[in-house]
Amino acid sequence: MKLLVVDDSSTMRRIIISTLSRLGYEDVLEAEDGAKGWDILNDNPDVEMLITDWNMPEMDGLTLVKKVRKDARFVHLPIIMITTEGGKLEVIAALKAGVNNYIVKPFTPQVLKEKFMAVLGTA
Ligand SMILES: [Mg+2]
Repeated sequence: MKLLVVDDSSTMRRIIISTLSRLGYEDVLEAEDGAKGWDILNDNPDVEMLITDWNMPEMDGLTLVKKVRKDARFVHLPIIMITTEGGKLEVIAALKAGVNNYIVKPFTPQVLKEKFMAVLGTA
């Protein structure tokens, strides 16, 4: 199963990727902003889950999610948003844009694991 992790923080990407690796998912692509993430997704339409940050340069995560959902190939792609924007309005905006679940920073690997498994179970 191929996954895509998009975050402008290399430290955050490392944490997410090592957590996924411990869950047995080694086939992980990464991008440092939404624009690069979108390019990688287009080159790899077989990606089966998108995990994206919200605040990033070039293209933010919310814009990326809206772009992804507008594309017929990715209508059902499971998406987890990782964000510091934990306010109610932000969460509603993210869900409305089409994310399946979200994680508020700071988070533990256990939380990422739980959300990941939850989204896989409902996808
Ligand atoms: Mg960020």
